[in-house]
Amino acid sequence: MALNLVFVLVGTTHAGNIGASARAIKNMGFTTLRLVDTCSPKKKDAIVRASGADDVLENAARFEHLADAVADCHAVIGTSARQRQISVPLQACRDVATSLGEQHNNALDQTVALVFGRERTGLSNEELDQCSALLQIPINPDFSSLNLGSAVQVVAYECAMALNSISTAPTSELEPATGEAMQHFFTHLERVMINTGFHDPANPRRLMRRIQSYFERNRPTDNEINILRGILAATENPRPPKEKQS
Ligand code: SAH
Repeated sequence: MALNLVFVLVGTTHAGNIGASARAIKNMGFTTLRLVDTCSPKKKDAIVRASGADDVLENAARFEHLADAVADCHAVIGTSARQRQISVPLQACRDVATSLGEQHNNALDQTVALVFGRERTGLSNEELDQCSALLQIPINPDFSSLNLGSAVQVVAYECAMALNSISTAPTSELEPATGEAMQHFFTHLERVMINTGFHDPANPRRLMRRIQSYFERNRPTDNEINILRGILAATENPRPPKEKQS
C-alpha cells in the first residue's frame, strides 16, 4: 500500500467514542489508531463500543502531544465541523479523499494522519497550526457537528472508497476504442458478413443496427477491436493451420 492512513484522536473524554472510532477504522479496512491525551482506551465503554475491534484499541499508541503522534507523518489533515480562524482553508471531505486516492496510486510509501478533535471544543488553534490541510464533512450548516465516532466513520468510508476505487491498471488499456476505430470495425464486419453469405444487403433486417447497438452497450477497448479485426481478416484470407511436427 503506497499510502498509510493513521487516525489520530485528540483529547477524547468519552471512552465510548474511542471504541466507536476503533470499530469504524476496522470496518473500513484500516488498522492504525493513535491517541493524544485521551481517556483510557481500556475502559469498559471503549471495549463495548469497539464491538470486536479490540486489536485496533490494543495496538493504539498513546501520546501526550499531537506533535509526537504525527512526527513520522508526511501530511497531517485536521478535521473540523466549522471554519476556524486559521489560514488553512476547509476542504470538503470527498475532495480530500479523492486527492489521497490519487496519491495512493502515484506516491512512494507515505504516512498521512487524519486528526480528530475533542467532543466539546474540537482541535485547539495550536493543534490546527500543525495541520497542512483541514477537512470538513459538509452537512446541515445549522447543525454541523457530528458525534466523534460518526465523523471518523464518514472520513474512513470516504478514504476507503477513494483508495480502492482508483484502478492501478494503466487507464489507456481500459479506455474504450474511439468512434473512428468502431466505424472501421463495423465496415469490416459488414464486408465479411456479406462475402460469407451471412448478410444479404438486399434484405438487411436492421442487422447492422442491432450489431452496432450491442457494441454500444459493450464498448470494446482498442486491444479487443484489434483482436476482432484480426479474426475478420483471417476469415477473409484463411490460412491452413500449421501442421503438427511428428
Ligand atoms: N464543537 C466542536 C465540535 C467537535 S465534534 C467544533 O466545533 O469543532 C468532535 C470532532 O469530530 C471534531 O473535532 C472533528 O474532528 C469531528 N467532526 C465533527 N463534525 C465534523 C464535520 N462536520 N466535519 C469534520 N469533522 C467533524
